[in-house]
Amino acid sequence: MTTMKSSDNKALELALQALKWTDEAIYKFTLLESLPEPLDCKPGCHYCCFNLPVVTPPEALLVGYHVEQTFTAEEKKEVNDRIEKIMERIDGISPYEVAMMRHELPCIFLKDAMCMIYGVRPAVCRTCTSTDAEHCRMIFESRNHRARLKCYQQIREIFQTVHSRLVDRCREMECQTDALPLPEAIKDYFRHPEPIEAWLLGEIVFNP
Ligand code: SF4
Ligand code: SF4
Repeated sequence: MTTMKSSDNKALELALQALKWTDEAIYKFTLLESLPEPLDCKPGCHYCCFNLPVVTPPEALLVGYHVEQTFTAEEKKEVNDRIEKIMERIDGISPYEVAMMRHELPCIFLKDAMCMIYGVRPAVCRTCTSTDAEHCRMIFESRNHRARLKCYQQIREIFQTVHSRLVDRCREMECQTDALPLPEAIKDYFRHPEPIEAWLLGEIVFNP
């Protein structure tokens, strides 16, 4: 995971704290004795990664920074090629149509059934959980994208809480707050010469 002292960068620290809180809240929930079934999520289980995660600007900046700092030139090119491919696929089609073809849209960070940015993956990914991986497989293979994962409502609420807190904090800082599809957000990150500093100054860094 990208490590950074809070004094180093307010944007990245904001995202890191939110993700830490998310992990802790999920962990505490899964320790409840009253939990009917454990979560079935395991490394390599990736039916839920055929998706376009939507993130807040601080999460996008954290992922972009992580890619910038830790990916090899080859990995960066690979991700960039995937972004271009996905943008071409979804160009001009509605969000509903995108959702209905999600089995054809692996996340730009899904490689060999694993997440390339696991340590900094956004809150939406951390809270995408299920008590039944077989059910996730069935939804994916049947392409029934209206079906819902067998996820605890309490974990969905953890996501809502962390997302709202992040958006509120961005507003308080007078910074861009838009919900951002991850491929476009990462493309915008690398298009901007100083994305983190610019966002902190209140500039529109994403979807300019
Ligand atoms: S949500 Fe479903 S597909 Fe995703 S890791 Fe958990 S069990 Fe696997
Ligand atoms: S960021 Fe990682 S966990 Fe989230 S959808 Fe992409 S590959 Fe899956």
